[in-house]
Amino acid sequence: MARIDLGYLPKENPCAQCGKPIAAPEWIENGPRRTSYLWRCPACGYRFEAVAFFGEPQSDSEALAA
Ligand SMILES: [Zn+2]
Repeated sequence: MARIDLGYLPKENPCAQCGKPIAAPEWIENGPRRTSYLWRCPACGYRFEAVAFFGEPQSDSEALAA
């Protein structure tokens, strides 16, 4: 199981189509230097993905592979 850094979890992201705030991403996929967030708007059903890139390598990435 990938650890999720809740401190970086985006919340209330506005829908890309209707602008309504979405409380939390539907799906989160963690990569070595990026995290993908899949958002689905409950109001209009629009789905879109946002990717956060990290410039610095995660210091505990080796621990995740164990
Ligand atoms: Zn929407």
